[in-house]
Amino acid sequence: MSRFLTVISVADAAAAAEKIAPARKTESVPVEQSAGRVLASDIAADTDIPGFDRSVVDGYAVRSADTTGASDSVPALLTCIGRVTMGKHDTNLILGNAECVYIPTGGVLPSGADAAVMVEYTEEAGDTILVKKPVSHGENVLLRDEDFKKGETVFSMGRRLSPQDAGVLAACGCATVTVAKKPVVGIISTGNELVPATSVPGPGQVRDANAPMLAAWLSEYGCEPRLYGIVQDEREAFETVIARALPDCDLLLLSGGSSKDDRDMTAGVIAGKGMVLVHGVALAPGKPTIIGRIDTKPVFGLPGHPASALVVLKVIVSPLLDKMLGLDTPLLRTVKATLAENIPSQRGREEYVRVKVTNGIATPLFGKSGLLNTLVKSDGLVCIPAGYEGLEKGSEVEVILW
Ligand code: AMP
Ligand code: MG
Repeated sequence: MSRFLTVISVADAAAAAEKIAPARKTESVPVEQSAGRVLASDIAADTDIPGFDRSVVDGYAVRSADTTGASDSVPALLTCIGRVTMGKHDTNLILGNAECVYIPTGGVLPSGADAAVMVEYTEEAGDTILVKKPVSHGENVLLRDEDFKKGETVFSMGRRLSPQDAGVLAACGCATVTVAKKPVVGIISTGNELVPATSVPGPGQVRDANAPMLAAWLSEYGCEPRLYGIVQDEREAFETVIARALPDCDLLLLSGGSSKDDRDMTAGVIAGKGMVLVHGVALAPGKPTIIGRIDTKPVFGLPGHPASALVVLKVIVSPLLDKMLGLDTPLLRTVKATLAENIPSQRGREEYVRVKVTNGIATPLFGKSGLLNTLVKSDGLVCIPAGYEGLEKGSEVEVILW
């Protein structure tokens, strides 16, 4: 067997991953717990919002024509014929010529009125109200259905819900909402050199940074990560943990041992239990990436270098997660910046370079692979497409923020 990886393009790898995405599952959650979740059906307004014309100020409901030309020196004189009570619609309150009604913010505009005057521009003199500023038709009034019309689609399926969405959902009559179930993602770290964060590394040992990092990223992305600890580079132990994890997870991420060295077992273990679909991607960092399947479940082999593992997660695994979530737009925050330095790159592979962004200037943080510090000193990644031999200083780039 060749010791070299047969690489395929990032686009082909991402498409291969997407193809084996398990079907989306849905569940109902209370709207107050819906932020960050992905909507699984369209939502329409069940009533007009608001359901009536309402004042947006404390003041007087008026016929705007009665206030024409009103000023401090020559106020319009209107007769107050009553008060609007919040939460009630008094159908007997009908404005005639030169009449007004006291109205609080949010009160129902009485019939006959077409505007509201702020209380600040009025003066009370018994039943007579002096209006010192004219209002135009519709001024200070929110019209019935001005926010949303009954039957109108307010949110489309695939939207990642925000806290403000929860408020609007409630206004549309939704106490609960159907969202995509969080994909359950099992994470297994492999490597004889790995110890958990709770241990002091002995000679030759390093702490497992990948499992917590991958889990944290997945939680933020709307998945449910499950940690299965560290396994040694021993085939049997590895297979045992995979067999334990698989029934409880929608997909597995196996970190480390994904290349073709003698110690690298991930591909062999996946092939033994299922099938390796991809082994090697024209991606830097992240070339030794495996996409496979065991019992219909996607299983990824991620390179052990933390930066590589994270890039593979973002670039190759996330399109599959998007499909499982039914997400309409990937959760990708980007910012435009100007490159401070040339970035050389090898043609034929898609490269992701860590950059620090300050005042619109992106400075590449070059460093040896395997460094952790550039992961946290950088703000994000600049992608150099496979067809490029690099990017020149001064060019406009889109930084994918972490
Ligand atoms: P591997 O992909 O197993 O060949 O590992 C490549 C490099 O990543 C080695 O230096 C490993 O020690 C390191 N590495 C592997 N897994 C982890 C991990 N979970 N956390 C931190 N470093 C790791
Ligand atoms: Mg290893």
